[in-house]
Amino acid sequence: MRIEGQNNKVAMRDYYEKPTLNLTPEQLKELAVRPCGRCETRLVVGNACICRRCQETLRDQAWNARMGRYVVAILFIWGMMIQMQDKDAVMDLYRLLELGVSSGVAVLVGSCAWAVFKEWWLFNGEELLKLIGKTVKKRIKGLL
Ligand SMILES: [Zn+2]
Repeated sequence: MRIEGQNNKVAMRDYYEKPTLNLTPEQLKELAVRPCGRCETRLVVGNACICRRCQETLRDQAWNARMGRYVVAILFIWGMMIQMQDKDAVMDLYRLLELGVSSGVAVLVGSCAWAVFKEWWLFNGEELLKLIGKTVKKRIKGLL
């Protein structure tokens, strides 16, 4: 092996006595470490803006908020059902629990229906809006 020689091979790769790394500014930027944009204690690399720990925290918070909305919806519908009961009838524990389960099922079915509608809207919403727009324009032209 020659010192600073050309064509020296180490493990079938070119061997450089004094290696120089030529990186483009984009590559350097990608390798640079920055503090996390949220907690500013951990470091992130590449295109990431926040560290993995903060991502997990945000995910947990989103999950808790979602569960909170479900609970609020169930309690709201439960209260509505209790309000709609016959005022003179005696409400026993069984009936109260029955209404609670019914409100839970109603929220579950409602959220499923909402998810299906969102999916449908994602694929057909634009077309539907175009059709409505065309129809409205026709009606307006018909009136003039
Ligand atoms: Zn962080």
